[in-house]
Amino acid sequence: MPNISLKKVKMPELVSTTRNTNYEEVSLGYSPEMAMEEALRCLNCKHKPCVSGCPVGVNIPEFIQQVASGDFLDAYDTITGTNALPAVCGRVCPQESQCEEVCVRAIKGESVGIGRLERFVADYKMNTDQDYEIKNKSKNGHKVAIVGSGPSGLSCAGDLARLGYDVTIFEAFHTPGGVLVYGIPEFRLPKQIVADEIERLKELGVEIKTNMVIGRVLSIDELIEMGYESIYVGTGAGLPRFMGIEGEELVGVYSANEYLTRINLMKAYIEYYDTPIRKSKSVAVIGGGNVAMDAARSAKRLGAEHVFIIYRRNREQMPARLEEIHHAEEEGITFKVLNNPVKILGDENGQVRALECIKMELGEVDASGRPRPRAIEESNFEIEVDTVIVSIGSSPNPLIKSTTDGLETNNRGCLIVDEKMATTKEGVYAGGDAVTGAATVINAMGAGKVAAKAIDEYIMSTIVNKKAI
Ligand SMILES: Cc1cc2nc3c(=O)[nH]c(=O)nc-3n(C[C@H](O)[C@H](O)[C@H](O)COP(=O)(O)OP(=O)(O)OC[C@H]3O[C@@H](n4cnc5c(N)ncnc54)[C@H](O)[C@@H]3O)c2cc1C
Ligand code: SF4
Repeated sequence: MPNISLKKVKMPELVSTTRNTNYEEVSLGYSPEMAMEEALRCLNCKHKPCVSGCPVGVNIPEFIQQVASGDFLDAYDTITGTNALPAVCGRVCPQESQCEEVCVRAIKGESVGIGRLERFVADYKMNTDQDYEIKNKSKNGHKVAIVGSGPSGLSCAGDLARLGYDVTIFEAFHTPGGVLVYGIPEFRLPKQIVADEIERLKELGVEIKTNMVIGRVLSIDELIEMGYESIYVGTGAGLPRFMGIEGEELVGVYSANEYLTRINLMKAYIEYYDTPIRKSKSVAVIGGGNVAMDAARSAKRLGAEHVFIIYRRNREQMPARLEEIHHAEEEGITFKVLNNPVKILGDENGQVRALECIKMELGEVDASGRPRPRAIEESNFEIEVDTVIVSIGSSPNPLIKSTTDGLETNNRGCLIVDEKMATTKEGVYAGGDAVTGAATVINAMGAGKVAAKAIDEYIMSTIVNKKAI
């Protein structure tokens, strides 16, 4: 019997008044009974609009039918046929603007909770003690190097390992996972979940070498000389952007990237960890994306009494996931929308003491399809804060480009690729945030998959054929 409820089965979560003091995961996930009940809301549509809404093409109706009949492990196999990181995607993908946006049930009522079901299936697999059957082919004798272990590099590595390639990932940090470990906080994505999914890749034979900054320790050309027949560059967009306003050099101004990395990788939130991070009373976070929400909620958890999100458009135009905006509001973050910072003010010791903003109003629609914000003259005001976190986007780090001949970038510093993710240098492919600028986990994974297919074609047609002649 289908479930005709117009609403999703509610997912339990921690109470907002206690969770904003700790780093425990906020959303608690479905029980098997809840998952089966939610799965019964799916109509198993013949034309599968949800699948075309998924950048990696997960067979959504099939896995949901398997959940509805209680075949959770089969559902896991269906998902991992195309998605190497289901526990991650089930937690952080912007489903409301992808698969769930086009779900037929969303025409009248709420869409099927596709993300929640994906998360349930992945967690069920991790929590049951079944042996994992590794579905990779025998080794084919070819070597590929991946630079960067974010979702893009990991998904490319997984697909190539399954095809029989010897894959080595070179990662600059001491821990693999990219933004999944150093950006997104534990209360949204527990580090153990990422570690478990990476473990699955290692079981497929993928080798991960950490503390390897490519462009410093080894260059791309040296990797080629070492016998890697193709390289995938998935180095992300880790270079923070600033606003260029007065006062950004003051003590107490962070980029969101630095603030979150200090917390996530150096565990600044644990009392006995000796991590230098400011103990703030009042914090302004500038921006309206997921990164801004994460920084604001982290600041609250670090003990700040007041945390403000300063955003120049209004709430409806915030790029953050709806769920993250709701969670931030519930946790006591104050949203100051239609405000733009103009100056950061310091005290006599060079420390932040306030943020000067100007009020904004919305004008005509701009190229982004959103109403353009414009300043209301003489509406300046000050907010008293001791910390300012700038979260207005990031760009790719220029290191790889500047140390590799023949690798072209566009005017935003993003690597230029064709539709197969091939860069302007033969044998070198790229994808994820390094190509698009800051985007999403699933888009980065999708690019990694496209590149894996193209790398396989390249090695098989170009290199193997050349050797045969
Ligand atoms: C705080 C935060 C919250 C986010 N929240 C969400 C969300 O909720 N949902 C969502 O879909 N997306 C979210 N995103 C965006 C998403 O995480 C990124 O789009 C995604 O991680 C990009 O993947 P990637 O593999 O291209 O790069 P990254 O994840 O950035 O990984 C790149 C890796 O390459 C390594 N690297 C860089 N240079 C070198 C080098 N020279 N040598 C070796 N290694 C190198 C880096 O250390 C890093 O580990 C968020 C981003 C941030 C920062
Ligand atoms: S569009 Fe929605 S209802 Fe239809 S198959 Fe996909 S998840 Fe099920």
